[in-house]
Amino acid sequence: MMKYISSRSKQEPNMAGKNAAQAIIKGIAEDKGLFVPEKMPQSLGDMGLLTGKNYKEIAYLVLSRFLPDYTEKELQECIDCAYDEQFESDKIVPLVKGGGAYFLELYHGPTAAFKDMALSILPHLLTTALKKEKIENKIAILTATSGDTGKAALEGFADVDGTEIIVFYPHVGVSQVQERQMTVQTGNNVHVFGIKGNFDDAQAAVKKMFNDPCLATELEEKGWQLSSANSINIGRLVPQVVYYVWAYIKLLEQGIIQPGEKINVVVPTGNFGNILASYYAREIGIPIGKFICASNKNNVLTDFINTGVYDAKREFYVTSSPSMDILVSSNLERLLYHLSGNNGQLVASLMKDLDEKKKFEASDNIRVGLTEFYGGFATEEETTVAIAELYQGDHYLMDPHTAVGYKVYSDYVEKTGDTTPTVIAATASAYKFSETVVNALGLPSQIDGFKAITQLKEATGVSVPRGLRGLDKKPVLHNRVVEKSQIPEAVKQSLSDDYHR
Ligand SMILES: *Cc1c(COP(=O)(O)O)cnc(C)c1O
Repeated sequence: MMKYISSRSKQEPNMAGKNAAQAIIKGIAEDKGLFVPEKMPQSLGDMGLLTGKNYKEIAYLVLSRFLPDYTEKELQECIDCAYDEQFESDKIVPLVKGGGAYFLELYHGPTAAFKDMALSILPHLLTTALKKEKIENKIAILTATSGDTGKAALEGFADVDGTEIIVFYPHVGVSQVQERQMTVQTGNNVHVFGIKGNFDDAQAAVKKMFNDPCLATELEEKGWQLSSANSINIGRLVPQVVYYVWAYIKLLEQGIIQPGEKINVVVPTGNFGNILASYYAREIGIPIGKFICASNKNNVLTDFINTGVYDAKREFYVTSSPSMDILVSSNLERLLYHLSGNNGQLVASLMKDLDEKKKFEASDNIRVGLTEFYGGFATEEETTVAIAELYQGDHYLMDPHTAVGYKVYSDYVEKTGDTTPTVIAATASAYKFSETVVNALGLPSQIDGFKAITQLKEATGVSVPRGLRGLDKKPVLHNRVVEKSQIPEAVKQSLSDDYHR
């Protein structure tokens, strides 16, 4: 049976791994590493045989490989509950041609960003895991968000029995629509806090709590256990592998590629979860040539891919693609583990450098592995120009994150002349960032995000996602903003409210 082990584990032969259910419940390993598959699952085999399957069928094939301790019935139930009418497209993920590439539209779920792809199923995977492992503790889901994970996690976990969901978002740095989506969330187990800090601060505080044995004991006594809805949780990552397989099969069905032919993928990247999922897709048999990693002005990953040096000691910028405003990109740790030839000890020392010096340097074999990646970034100006040009040229409307991806794709093609069919992850609806998109299209400037939605709708005729309609009329239920040092206190408070309820 496949095991998950820590990305920082020492290579001792009888190192006890966790099964998938245990890894999903725990979220992060005891030595602060991330859970990685000890051995990659078996390949999906001949892709030509998978044409004609729907999204749920592909999801089952992929999930059953990565989560083999779940029974077929358990996985089917989780999949059925996730990929249903809450998605506004019956295909779940449409693949749309534009700008010489193929946009994989991952944003037709309830919160209009790609985080729904995984967070619609994670609560089911988690509650199933708790039953499988006969765990009776209640689970407190701690979530740091750069804007989109928070709402998708709230939506996924609201009123899920036996869970309490607590979200921390940067009070300055998310879009008006993103913030409102979170602060109007209903549900008797939801807690939302703005923090005076950025995503990295929120993520660091959350990770620290996971590794605080005193806090664990304190919560344990009250029947609580912590877990994570961030992409550090393997239960977030695995459902993201599905749509890369799906994209490949759609291209096969349309005769754009032949079985075995390579594609490239472009992923607008922040915490490195989405692009890592494409790497996992390649590991189970999807022929991917280049992994094109697109960053905004916070271009720490571009520099890392190009130089092998990860240097987080740099200025942090708030940009128009806030979900990528990240300097400490967590899932990179998993890639380092795989590229280093599963050398957990090396990864542990690199992560120690990152902790202490905010910087680390890749080893030679990691550098070799990185040559499969292309790193590029787009400035704020380039991002808005990309939105305008593709809309004027092809009438394809992109949000700023997707536009960062498209700009980096264009640069890559220009530089290399590579004509490999390319899939670009379209990660959010333009309506989530309508102020930026309205400005980019040269419409009268609008600082109010809700008015900008109406304006954008009138100008483009593109329909507004269900989850964003009428958002400005909903009552704000959460308005607490805390210092980053108060995050642990906010967690205890949230759980004790519930405890005394
Ligand atoms: C989260 C997010 C990203 C970045 O994805 P990672 O998995 O963190 O790299 C990009 N675009 C949007 C819209 C997002 O919400």
